[in-house]
Amino acid sequence: MKVTALAGGVGGAKLLVGLARTLGPDELTAVVNTGDDARVYGVHVAPDLDIVTYWLAGMADTERGWGIEGDGFTVVDALGRLGADDWFRLGDADLATCLYRSQRLAEGATLAQATDEIRRSLGVEAEILPMSNHEVRTRVVTADGRDLEFQEYFVKERAAPEVSEVRLSGLEKASPAPGVLEAIEEADRVVICPSNPYLSIAPIAALPGVREALRAHPRVIAVSPIVAGRAVKGPAGSLLANLAGESSASAVARLYADFLDLFALDTRDSGEIERVRQTGVEALSLDTLMVDHDASERLTRALLAA
Ligand code: GDP
Repeated sequence: MKVTALAGGVGGAKLLVGLARTLGPDELTAVVNTGDDARVYGVHVAPDLDIVTYWLAGMADTERGWGIEGDGFTVVDALGRLGADDWFRLGDADLATCLYRSQRLAEGATLAQATDEIRRSLGVEAEILPMSNHEVRTRVVTADGRDLEFQEYFVKERAAPEVSEVRLSGLEKASPAPGVLEAIEEADRVVICPSNPYLSIAPIAALPGVREALRAHPRVIAVSPIVAGRAVKGPAGSLLANLAGESSASAVARLYADFLDLFALDTRDSGEIERVRQTGVEALSLDTLMVDHDASERLTRALLAA
């Protein structure tokens, strides 16, 4: 069974691990958000691509959620001593990935090529596609009127400000990376991972042709990133409250309703099943909390059987 999964960072990575354990080596394609890519310390940082790659390679720091297990911070600490702004805690081996990517881009490779080389070198069998080779950048407009770069909002300000708008710069000139639309069209199932709807899934769906391809697909399944009315981590809950009026599983279903066929919400939110169905989407309640790789695999098997 061919599966194409749309993903952001940790929530996406966890479900991808389950999918990779369930499917054959050439049956899984991940289409990954690059809206939160940034230039940091002179290198191209691609947080979601790298989180997904490290989790699938079995080398992620799964406790912390980001970075590589056992990584050191010698370089970033040394940069701090030089007076550099060191709030972006990039580990040493993590920096090596970014250096490699930056070098390949400088040599004229596309982001998709560099991503493919990195995942193959790290032994990942699933195909990993960046959503685009173009620079699409997420910006966050705060309620107090500031227009922040994504990493300023997310890392420097710890996603604390109230948000009035999430926008994407560079979208006018962007197209999906080669293979993204085909991967959606040719999949037996398309899975929308439990990633942040505004910060991870919306940028992918905003690229020309993606939303249309999702609408045309007969089996698009999403897993709720909201469990018991709250985000498991990160700002999804507060963004939903700010931008959709409530932090709930059904608010996520409403954002996806035009292209979604099945919404898997958590058993802790099963009281919301009727509200999800009112959006015109089939609903199923499952234990979606992926506390370890076995839990991810159980969730994946239940999803693919549905
Ligand atoms: P980020 O870029 O690291 O914030 O990652 P993502 O965009 O992939 O998603 C973060 C979302 O994943 C948050 O809204 C979390 O609630 C959700 N999430 C993380 N772990 C789990 C989990 O085990 N189960 C479910 N259902 N959602 C999760």
